[in-house]
Amino acid sequence: MTAKLVKPRFRLRLTWLVLGLMLALILAACGDNTNTAVPATTATATTAAPVATTVASTTLAATTAAATTVAPGTTAATTAAATTAAVTTAPATTAAPTTAPVTTVAAPATKIKVLATTTQLGDFARNIGGDRVEVTQILRPDDDPHDYDPTADDSKNAAAAQLVLKNGVGLDDWLDKIITNSGTKAPLIDTSEGIKLRAGDGSDEEKEGDPHIWHSTDNAKIMVANIAKGLAQVDPAGSDYYQAQLTAYQKQLDDLKTQITQVFTPVPVEKRKLVTNHDAFGYFTDEFQITIVGSVIPSFSDAAQPTPQEINELIKNIKDNNVKVIFTETTINPKIAEQVAQTAGVQIYSNLYGDALGPAGSDGDTYLKMELSNAKNMAAGFQQQ
Ligand SMILES: [Zn+2]
Repeated sequence: MTAKLVKPRFRLRLTWLVLGLMLALILAACGDNTNTAVPATTATATTAAPVATTVASTTLAATTAAATTVAPGTTAATTAAATTAAVTTAPATTAAPTTAPVTTVAAPATKIKVLATTTQLGDFARNIGGDRVEVTQILRPDDDPHDYDPTADDSKNAAAAQLVLKNGVGLDDWLDKIITNSGTKAPLIDTSEGIKLRAGDGSDEEKEGDPHIWHSTDNAKIMVANIAKGLAQVDPAGSDYYQAQLTAYQKQLDDLKTQITQVFTPVPVEKRKLVTNHDAFGYFTDEFQITIVGSVIPSFSDAAQPTPQEINELIKNIKDNNVKVIFTETTINPKIAEQVAQTAGVQIYSNLYGDALGPAGSDGDTYLKMELSNAKNMAAGFQQQ
């Protein structure tokens, strides 16, 4: 059978035609073709090429009625053509060998499937889970977590997940919809558990507090500990492994804090005045003695638009505090920030990693790199003030 697959298409069609006609005649003579549709459903479940092609030949034999069942076993695209052109759908069926290698990827099935909402949680999970886990993260680099519309793929991933991780504090409440739609029963870890929250801005989204918890390295240590606990819960055999990974990563977080402290050391505290696109850095500023002067979007959420009065107030604050730099963020359109900077006569520093990691290869493609990059960027800007 395999040898036939590599022959020219017309030869294959002819073969199918002859086979089909012969079998059709035999089955017509028997007067029974009801069983032929059954194997087609088994073909959907398996990726083994020989099975798929066998199904094709039996369904071909089942005259016109069964011909339409060929398509679901292979690709939906061939459905329409299947009614009379059963022979022409057969070569499409033989495309199954391209999917055959998928069965060889059965090994990762032993890994723990983790679904994480944000890019930073995905990074944390990969660091703590190491080679025992397979992490799928919902948001892509530079995606805005405040404003996300779940997709059908998200539900599929949630249904397959053995552990689900969320940021919490209202940031990724859109996960609720994914969980409902998927029907997943996987344990859900709220990584914000145990973190002392800064006050929110009173809006619906921020009623629990400021959701940008990861920008404190101390908070990050709690978040990864929550992840390690969740992993040990669903994979007890890996408990010691996760504990070792946690200890090693928490050490890196301590080192990061030391590095960031060193980055800011040459910058006098009175120069550490921050104006950003939105209020994402409260936990960071608390940790490194930075004062927030204002933000272009005066909210923890970046969905809001500043009013003209708010912009005027910000410009006044910038001048009063002798701020010389406005920092933009990767996930937010810099247009308004640029207008404010122009009006206030200050510079734009781009870009801080506020709500998401950067793409692979950028200086923000891991949590550790992202925070250090932010610190260096801020320190350079503060020196202008
Ligand atoms: Zn934000």
